[in-house]
Amino acid sequence: MLQRDIWVLSLAIVTSAKDISYYNCTCQGVHCLEKTCVGRTCFVTEEKQSDSREIYRVRGCFNTNINENCHGNTKVTKVQCCTSEFCNENVTIFKPVEEPQVTSLLLVTVLPIVLFVIFLMLFAFLFWKLKQNNRKKSLPTLIDFGHTDIVNASIVGDSTLGDLLDCTTGSGSGLPFLVQRTVARQVTLMECVGKGRYGEVWRGLWQGEDVAVKIFSSRDEQSWFRETEIYNTVLLRHENILGFIASDMTSRNSSTQLWLITHYHDNGSLYDYLQRTTVDPEGCLQLALSIIYGLVHLHVEIFGTQGKPAIAHRDLKSRNILVKSNKQCCIADLGLAVIHTQNGDYLDIGSNPRVGTKRYMAPEVLDETICTDSFESYKRTDVWAYGLVLWEICRRTIINGMVEDYRPPFYDMVPHDPSFEDMKKVVCVDQQRPNIPNTWSSDKILSTLMKIMKECWYQGPSARLTALRIKKTLNKLKNSLEQRKQDC
Ligand code: ADP
Ligand code: MG
Repeated sequence: MLQRDIWVLSLAIVTSAKDISYYNCTCQGVHCLEKTCVGRTCFVTEEKQSDSREIYRVRGCFNTNINENCHGNTKVTKVQCCTSEFCNENVTIFKPVEEPQVTSLLLVTVLPIVLFVIFLMLFAFLFWKLKQNNRKKSLPTLIDFGHTDIVNASIVGDSTLGDLLDCTTGSGSGLPFLVQRTVARQVTLMECVGKGRYGEVWRGLWQGEDVAVKIFSSRDEQSWFRETEIYNTVLLRHENILGFIASDMTSRNSSTQLWLITHYHDNGSLYDYLQRTTVDPEGCLQLALSIIYGLVHLHVEIFGTQGKPAIAHRDLKSRNILVKSNKQCCIADLGLAVIHTQNGDYLDIGSNPRVGTKRYMAPEVLDETICTDSFESYKRTDVWAYGLVLWEICRRTIINGMVEDYRPPFYDMVPHDPSFEDMKKVVCVDQQRPNIPNTWSSDKILSTLMKIMKECWYQGPSARLTALRIKKTLNKLKNSLEQRKQDC
């Protein structure tokens, strides 16, 4: 500090007596006795330390004309002289370099990052939009489960289940993976409505709507995987197939929880329904028809953009059929299903160690002669089981004021929880079939159904009716009944 003052003062002391003009100048610095001084030249000197942002500035007067002291500029010190009243008052020499430096630093570093982020967001948004448009336009048959994360879960928003499922029917049967997870995690479990062999089914609430939540036990994880895979890759929306909403896998208390969320049907399974309800022959036909519609939809391969592979269920039974509020049925539980596509004769059996329900097993499954690499074989086992379900429904149909109690197939031939061997003895060795009461022959509908079920139970699988044939026969029956009603 002292050094600087001496330097400034030494500048001021150098004088010459030739010029006669004197000016008032601003005086700033330790050498000033007052805020102004009078001299022939006003000056400003500035000194800047290279490692400091601070500028040391001195203003004052020279008692000389502008001289060589006004030109002593170096990198760190600058001098400016002027000759007019207070001309040194607002003069600064060193430009305020720090501010521009910060601004340019910002411009050079932050701005490109910001622009890049905006560009990325724009790109992501356009990509998402494009994907959504494609989904709506091209109606692909398959979606790749797990690769649809790009769709933001925010689309769940305030949507109803109907909205969500409607807007995604074109993209496989499943909602985008992320949406499924979001929906699943918004479900509140309300009450346990059923316990199956491998888990529980709960009534849950999602945004005020009832949903069914099947919680798989860990030993049946393969069924969850299979059902999730099928629902997410196959366009399966059909009024007689249980409507899929979401699948979710969570880790809770170090154990894995597997959820399958579907439409909820208050009537429960056909098994539950038949325990408490009887039907008239038209109601019986309606149940039978709706199940065969569902089964035909599963069994047929549909080609084209909205197509689907052929699927055999392999565990058809009254507990795996649900009764909707309109008294139509829908088929549930695809955990054991096999898939077939004619192109390349591709058969996908899955890897589930679970087997079907013994009571409903066809003879060729029980005696293990089933041709496991032929898709047709699996369809024929479904038809066998369909015959047994028909029998269960017909027993609960009132004919001439008479009706049987609910009983499961072979109730009078095998124990409550039959073993494989029990079933094999009855079905393969003794070749027994469920008993058909005589009363059924007195009703037009029941007598047709009776014939159908018998043709579902042939020992030789190839002799059995196909689901499509059954559907045609039952449709014909329904049409003839309607025609008769119109004629009356
Ligand atoms: P199972 O292993 O015997 O086939 P599930 O686990 O599939 O049994 O289902 C158990 C029970 O839960 C069914 O019998 C039915 O009563 C009830 N249930 C299953 N799914 C639904 C649904 N979507 N809506 C209403 N009830 C259901
Ligand atoms: Mg089931």
